[in-house]
Amino acid sequence: MEHGSVLIHDAKLIDGTGGPSRQASVLIEGERIAAVGTEADDRAAQMPGVASFNASGMSVMPGLIDGHVHSTFDNAAGHDELFYHRRPGMAALTAVPNLRRMLTSGLTGFFDADSLYDLGVDLKEAVQCGVIEGPRMAVGGYALMTSVGGAAGRLMPDRGTMAYARMVSGKDEIVAEVRRQIKLGVDWIKVHVTGSFAHRRAEGEFITFTMEELRTICDIAHDFGIPVAGHCRSAKSVKFACEAGFDQIIHGTLMDDAAVDALVKHQAMLVPALTFQANLAEFGDAIHASPVMQDLFRREIESSAEMFQKAFKAGVPLVCGSESGFSVTPYGDWHYREMEVFVKYLGLTPLEAIRCATEYGSLVLRMKGQVGVLEAGRLADLIVVDGDPEKDVTVLGQRDRLRMVMLGGRQVDLGRPELERKPLPEWRTHDFGQILTKPIVESARAAQAAGQSLR
Ligand SMILES: [Zn+2]
Repeated sequence: MEHGSVLIHDAKLIDGTGGPSRQASVLIEGERIAAVGTEADDRAAQMPGVASFNASGMSVMPGLIDGHVHSTFDNAAGHDELFYHRRPGMAALTAVPNLRRMLTSGLTGFFDADSLYDLGVDLKEAVQCGVIEGPRMAVGGYALMTSVGGAAGRLMPDRGTMAYARMVSGKDEIVAEVRRQIKLGVDWIKVHVTGSFAHRRAEGEFITFTMEELRTICDIAHDFGIPVAGHCRSAKSVKFACEAGFDQIIHGTLMDDAAVDALVKHQAMLVPALTFQANLAEFGDAIHASPVMQDLFRREIESSAEMFQKAFKAGVPLVCGSESGFSVTPYGDWHYREMEVFVKYLGLTPLEAIRCATEYGSLVLRMKGQVGVLEAGRLADLIVVDGDPEKDVTVLGQRDRLRMVMLGGRQVDLGRPELERKPLPEWRTHDFGQILTKPIVESARAAQAAGQSLR
């Protein structure tokens, strides 16, 4: 990575605030943006030997910030993989190339919501201290759950830890765990406010903490200046969490008007993380997802769009989150995708959607005013893309259009090839596909025969 003064000139500048784009130059000195517009050109003219980058026909904008990533999951196919196929050392090692892959896709910051074995803090510090290369990170540790668990039902133990979660029972355990994580160095406390049982799926998610427990978490965390993020789907759980003092609501796909009002009143930010559902709904056929499931996810996005829109219009910071770390949301490929979903389903303009992945992203990164907007004085986290994201945000997902990624004034080497990854022993769950019943074989053979007779 190169460090020094650079003038990026003749670019279309999208500043990340949602305001109008313009043709303008950006001058970077050291780790910061020194000037923007004619002042950048004037100052650069006084600097003999300043490097210049001709970005004519290209766009310059803040680097993308992803408000929801699991950097230690290594594109897991499901709970079984995370619970029974992961080891701490290898989980940290696989995160190394995954972090670099995210950075070279234009991601300059992300929120690691919860991590296997509390690894988030170590990864963040390894990046900060130059041990490994990656985007800026804000991290949670173990997700807090009660013994009734989160999305994995009975697979969760009643006590202790499992993969990315710690079970807490009663006030004493809650207080101890929140304090332990704060000592370790988390930037957020992540809580599974709701959870579901496979045997009672039709009833949706239940609130798994009492109000008193949720208040305890927030009180302890806030005493140390640490905000709290909660996985909540139902309207009631969003209201409950806001009232308890939560600072960030994750998902919120079943909100009603009162839940949106609660977000506004308590000034909480909202990270829907719809990319997971959108990828399955729109591209799931490519990986043999069932049409029934695809339809279910499409309906979940469509039915939640109105309340997300309403929250955005009411000034709730709506933040793009990709849920990267699962097999349907692999690192480096989909960090632009939430913007596309916000444009397509929520009716946001591309510039508004970009704001959700830049300026609003800086809130989840806990770097408000320091990154996320292209203006003088901020850290120089930016990207140059050959194309116009204001017309089509999907150009931000095309690696071959990415001309520059800059993190804190240093240009990331986009030319270095990635290592070829081969399967790690016992790392993935084995899957033979569908259950091979005789009728399935017979109908497949019949279809084959019919296909041949047509030719
Ligand atoms: Zn998640």
